[in-house]
Amino acid sequence: MNKERLVNSFLEMIKIYSPSKKEGEYAKYLVEELKKIGMEIYLDKGYEVYGGDAPTIIGKLKGNIEGEGVTLAAHMDVVEPCNNINYIVENGIIKTDGTTTLGGDDKGGIASIIESLKVIKENNISHEDIFVVFTPCEEAGMLGAKNVNWNLVPGNMKPAKDMIVVDNAGRAGIIAHTAPAKYGFTIKIKGKKAHAGIEPEKGINAILLAGKVISKLKVGRIDELTTSNLCKIESNFPSNVVSDSCIFEGEVRSHSEEKILSILNEYKESCEEVIKECGGEYSIDFECSYPTLKPIDDLKFAKKFAEIYEEMGIKSELKVIGGGSDSNIFAKEGYNSIIIGVGMYNVHTVDERLEIEDLYKTTEAIIKYISK
Ligand SMILES: [Zn+2]
Repeated sequence: MNKERLVNSFLEMIKIYSPSKKEGEYAKYLVEELKKIGMEIYLDKGYEVYGGDAPTIIGKLKGNIEGEGVTLAAHMDVVEPCNNINYIVENGIIKTDGTTTLGGDDKGGIASIIESLKVIKENNISHEDIFVVFTPCEEAGMLGAKNVNWNLVPGNMKPAKDMIVVDNAGRAGIIAHTAPAKYGFTIKIKGKKAHAGIEPEKGINAILLAGKVISKLKVGRIDELTTSNLCKIESNFPSNVVSDSCIFEGEVRSHSEEKILSILNEYKESCEEVIKECGGEYSIDFECSYPTLKPIDDLKFAKKFAEIYEEMGIKSELKVIGGGSDSNIFAKEGYNSIIIGVGMYNVHTVDERLEIEDLYKTTEAIIKYISK
């Protein structure tokens, strides 16, 4: 690996402004980089659906030996504020001046992937098919991954199912393989309006009903694998009106979708009980934001990658994580992902930093994995 080139290419990348939905310029830069390496390119136009300006980039470096191949994936968008990044390199760390995020999430991952490909190509190392998938809009509800039109991807450009996603916070050696599903829900309570001073008994106060429902809900940590949160409540009437509408929202996540559905069913029952007792009406809507991520090979892929770290003298750690990512979305298409650490810390904040030594280690591990 060319360490200097790796760091320089990372620094070059973070200078390109690429917040969610505006990764267009960065995508062009990456397409050029991949072409220089000699990769075939397919660009998915999912961004047209949600008003972005950057394609999901699928690249392929044809293998010179047979095999299932591997996919290297990362996302192109960076959490705001991320314009005019003034980086500081000191004591083995890359950070900002404290006014912006760094973009180590996930340009650290992308820089690592690009360097790995260059090393493979320049040294004529034998390898199976290597695919890259660079998505836009991961940080904004995984819109890029969700809107890939897989039916249009030509057969020879369909990425390999084993996918190394270089997008985990924390040190090199971390290998996440399991992440929860998430459902969002909205509960609408309808009461009945009345004059609050003259004839309140004729009204049914929706805020009061919502309060009664909420007091019955399990919220917070539900069990080891399941959490729930309330995040919004809305009702706005003059003080002399018995309010007839109250809407509240939240999410439930779990490593078992069955468990999520049973929690949501309990929520429904709580609504029913309150409405039965107090009158009024309710509705509950919920929607899967993303499904669970689970290994489909008994952790074979994750363990194989862990072995490489161990060979390098780096402590490996198989991990279950609490957040969703592109990998959850790709799991629906049968992709078997591991999400590996690349030395990024305090992501999504202006205190974000990238540990250069971890960037090297992760890149080295990827190179070792894809060299056959
Ligand atoms: Zn990320």
